[in-house]
Amino acid sequence: MFLTNLFGLKKVCTHDKITPDMDFGYCPDCGKLIKNEWYITRCSCCGVKVRAIVRNGEVVPQNHYCTNCGSEEYVVEKLDKINFIDINYAVLMKKEFDQVEKQRFTTQCWQERTVSQPKLLK
Ligand SMILES: [Zn+2]
Ligand SMILES: [Zn+2]
Repeated sequence: MFLTNLFGLKKVCTHDKITPDMDFGYCPDCGKLIKNEWYITRCSCCGVKVRAIVRNGEVVPQNHYCTNCGSEEYVVEKLDKINFIDINYAVLMKKEFDQVEKQRFTTQCWQERTVSQPKLLK
């Protein structure tokens, strides 16, 4: 499934019905749980916000160099909530959570709990 998507043999769902105003939801076209995540990029030198874009599935700044200080170093920040100011800079990523990944998350939670238990007893 993952490999066919990777090589573009299968049409990848763009989850158009999951609109940006939703935090998350199940896509009616493919049935996957989709989470909307907003990202901005910031110059790591002077901290000014740079408009973010998605290139090859990665969040990158639109400009190669900071318009304020000329640096090409940047940091990517995930926003908890989008607001009217950040929406001018932010880019939306639709993260897919399928059944397999949901199970994996549950397993991780259990492992963490059982590992921390003996520490508390000491
Ligand atoms: Zn979909
Ligand atoms: Zn800068």
